[in-house]
Amino acid sequence: MLDLINVSKSYGEIQALSNIQLSIKTGEIVGIVGKSGSGKTTLLRLLNLMEQPSDGKILIDGINLQTLPKKAVRQQQQKMGMVFQNYNLLENLNVQDNIALPLKLVKEKKPTKVRELLNFVGMSHKAEVYPAQLSGGEKQRVSIARALIRDPKWLLCDEATSSLDEENTESIVRLLYKIHQEFRPTIFFVSHELETVKSLCHRILVMENGQLVGEFPNNPNQFLDEKLSYLEKVKRSLQS
Ligand code: ADP
Repeated sequence: MLDLINVSKSYGEIQALSNIQLSIKTGEIVGIVGKSGSGKTTLLRLLNLMEQPSDGKILIDGINLQTLPKKAVRQQQQKMGMVFQNYNLLENLNVQDNIALPLKLVKEKKPTKVRELLNFVGMSHKAEVYPAQLSGGEKQRVSIARALIRDPKWLLCDEATSSLDEENTESIVRLLYKIHQEFRPTIFFVSHELETVKSLCHRILVMENGQLVGEFPNNPNQFLDEKLSYLEKVKRSLQS
């Protein structure tokens, strides 16, 4: 359970977030939508503990994160996987070494786990290829595998499909759904693409000028059933 209680964040004169009140259940897939500059990324940066709120509290399972010692904050951060719009892969490392990088930073090696994840994201055949030789969709698969390497409880996706075409967007959404079914992380999916958010998330939060201005339940499963024909998907989408 994650609770934000009256959370605000300012940068000098700029009020990036104002009085955010939010409760997230463990295992939920939450979509965060809003125009550019509405505060979505700032919210993610608070959730992954890169930034501290200027005001208010963030509680995980009732524990106030601001009161934790640094070591405990790092332990919390290790439970978070990040996926970015621009993939953030290291160009001088091949696919399997990019995936293993978070382990290297804590002096661990788990070759079997790297192989399993390569397989899980469908990139086993490109284990030794460098990022420059990958398509956008493939790069995002690698970056998602890297985010999973330390078994995150939280997966924070910042515009993860926004650089991809329709087909790759759909396949990344399916992959995130498969991850959710298999590992049950809580997923935050920030995007300005409402249709994509609708296809994945259980709940959609709308941000405007640093405020949470709306919150809607959503039933994504109908879009994720691979057996549906395109026509069927359009029909169901128009009915909902
Ligand atoms: P979004 O992700 O919805 O595009 P952001 O969270 O990036 O929005 O930004 C919200 C507001 O906070 C914007 O006005 C932005 O310019 C400002 N902002 C974000 N980060 C910083 C920062 N590090 N320093 C100053 N202003 C910032």
